[in-house]
Amino acid sequence: MLLVEDDSELVELLSGALRDEGYAVDVAEDGQRGLHLGLTRPYDVVIIDRGLPALDGLDLLVRLRSRAVRARALLLTALGTVHDRVDGLDAGADDYLVKPFDLDELSARLRALCRRALELTDVLEIGAGHLDVGQREAVLPQGERVPLSAREFALLRVLATHPDRVHTRASLRRTVFDDASGSSIVDTYVYYLRTKLGRSVVRTVQGLGYRLGAL
Ligand code: CA
Repeated sequence: MLLVEDDSELVELLSGALRDEGYAVDVAEDGQRGLHLGLTRPYDVVIIDRGLPALDGLDLLVRLRSRAVRARALLLTALGTVHDRVDGLDAGADDYLVKPFDLDELSARLRALCRRALELTDVLEIGAGHLDVGQREAVLPQGERVPLSAREFALLRVLATHPDRVHTRASLRRTVFDDASGSSIVDTYVYYLRTKLGRSVVRTVQGLGYRLGAL
């Protein structure tokens, strides 16, 4: 998902909590950066603060929608009047949360949005097996189901969503883990995935990073 929020304390809190729940999170701290990421990367869900530098959150959402970006959108705002809510929904928001909000409520709303966003991509192919997104399990070619931890799942899901792309360690570390993670965290989780699912599930691209392999 993409989080567009300029309050750095809130960014730290939210991105940490979301990653702990197994989401891969990109952060933009102003509207222009959010627009660039939203137009160039495929997100299931975008969380947009309404008051943003460079480009207002509502304008950002309108621009994403006008360019056919269909990600589910949750607006965060300090304004809570009926009028503001209508403005947000008119701009193309799927849901709306007024600050200050409870983290549990945000989590519940995001789960609902993700369920809707993932309806079309509940299964991601990995060779002859697949990743069951709803259950967070890898399914081997013979049908055996292997449960994954939140971060194993998030890492494998990013790889399986873009099976032809080579992902650098830096980009995987940024989207799946948090910036405070050690530089070897991606290698560590690739090792976990290979231990559970077989060596071929993730391919090493020498000198560049990783890409999806096969089950
Ligand atoms: Ca703000």
